[in-house]
This record gives sequence, structure tokens and C-alpha cells, in this order.
Amino acid sequence: MATLEIKDLHVSVATDDGAKEILKGVDLTVRAGETHAIMGPNGSGKSTLSYAVAGHPKYEVTGGSVTLDGEDVLEMSVDERARAGLFLAMQYPVEVPGVSMSNFLRTAATAVRGEAPKLRTWVKEVKESMKELEIDPAFAERSVNEGFSGGEKKRHEILQLALLNPKIAILDETDSGLDVDALRVVSEGVNRFRASGESGVLLITHYTRILRHITPDFVHVFAGGRIVESGGSELADQLEAGGYVKYTGSPEAAG
Ligand code: ADP
Ligand code: MG
Ligand code: MG
Repeated sequence: MATLEIKDLHVSVATDDGAKEILKGVDLTVRAGETHAIMGPNGSGKSTLSYAVAGHPKYEVTGGSVTLDGEDVLEMSVDERARAGLFLAMQYPVEVPGVSMSNFLRTAATAVRGEAPKLRTWVKEVKESMKELEIDPAFAERSVNEGFSGGEKKRHEILQLALLNPKIAILDETDSGLDVDALRVVSEGVNRFRASGESGVLLITHYTRILRHITPDFVHVFAGGRIVESGGSELADQLEAGGYVKYTGSPEAAG
């Protein structure tokens, strides 16, 4: 059973005025079969948490630990993290000009599985997953994220999720920029992924909208670089009604 354990995590980012501490002691455990939502105002450090766990070089871990099944994630390279079973879909996915979607996916699958997937079964797998996500087959030949709409990028993220089948998936603002149809398709994709019960999901979101489609087991409120409250899915309903003012003290910061 996969377990991602984050303990007293402190993270700083380099700015022109020197290092600025963004995460101020985050404690969170995500187990296989669990879906956790992290919700919080803009600028509270939610993306910093996902970047730090992903191993983004700009984010310096100054204290605490991150382990996956007891293995030290912070000691791993970005590739090793993916091979260990961590999947991180970013708020702003990168464009990779000149590399087709199908090549990109096969390379990623090869890296994660440790061997190249057999071509015939692979093509079938990709086709099926694309169909489930209502992705146009022509999409496979386009360059990664180049000229993709917001909705296409998010479908691409969930396509990766379906094909790479990680132990723990961290999805940052998967709902941003989605129309209702794309939101439904993407949510169904995440729910299919959850259904196996073998993976854990950390869903980072500012809005409660996606949580009407993906019911989390746990909700954590993030403010000022730490988790300030945890509860069940009912906490998301309270946030929908009351916003983040209660945690930030100012309506503007509630974003
Ligand atoms: P959220 O995802 O909750 O909106 P972020 O993690 O993106 O929050 O940002 C948290 C804080 O850290 C913000 O004040 C933001 O300006 C700052 N920050 C994040 N990344 C950087 C960076 N690369 N350089 C400077 N400041 C950053
Ligand atoms: Mg933000
Ligand atoms: Mg963010």
C-alpha cells in the first residue's frame, strides 16, 4: 500500500530580496485509496507544495521530510520520483515543441515502467484512454501542449495519469480553465483512476467546483504556508458558503 508522508515541511523560494519562506511546516499523509483535497486562497503556498514534492529546483526544502513508502523523496532526482510512482500534474504544464504527444507518452511510460511498452498493446491502451477522455485521435500527432487549449492540456494530464498509473498523483488546479464538459470528462478520468483503490490522490484547488464531481475523503485548508484545518468533504461545503475569510482575516486574500 502506497503512502506519501510529508512531515513538518519547510520550503523557501529564491527571490531578488533573498530566500523567502513559503511553506512553514506542512504535515500530510496520503495513502493508497484516499483522495485528499487541499484548498486555500491564492498565494497560500499550494503550488509551492506540489513543486517542492516534484523536485523543482527553484524551491528549496529547508526542513522536514517527504517519503514515499518510507523512501526519501527529497533525495531522488525528478526522474526517480516518477519511477518511484509519484505523478505531478502542474498548474502550468510545459510546452514541448517538436515532440508528438504519442512519443512523449511512450517515453514517459518507458521511464516509469523501466521498459518500453510493447508497441501493439501500447497503441491500443493509448487509443482506449483517449476515447474515454473524449480526445480527438489526431491529438496524438500534435506537439506536447503546443497550442493546446486549457481544456486540452488538462485532458492530456489525465491521459498521462491513466497511462502511467502512478501510486500517488498530485493534481494542481486541474479544474482551472475548464468548461463544464471538459470538467466532467476530466473528473470522470480522475474517478476512474481512483476506482482501483491502489492509488492516492492529492487534489489541489482554489475552487470547490471540481469537488462536486470528485468527492474527497479528506479536505485540508491551506493558509499562510500550512494546513490550518482538516476535515471530511463537508469542509468543502463550508468553504463554498463562507470562503477563506475565516482563515485569512481579509476578504481580498480570500481571492
Ligand atoms: P498558491 O498556489 O496557493 O496560489 P503559490 O505556491 O503559487 O500559492 O505561491 C505562494 C507564495 O509564494 C506567493 O506569495 C508567491 O508569490 C510566492 N512564490 C511562489 N513561487 C515563487 C517564485 N518562483 N518566486 C517568487 N515568489 C514565489
Ligand atoms: Mg495561485
Ligand atoms: Mg497555485
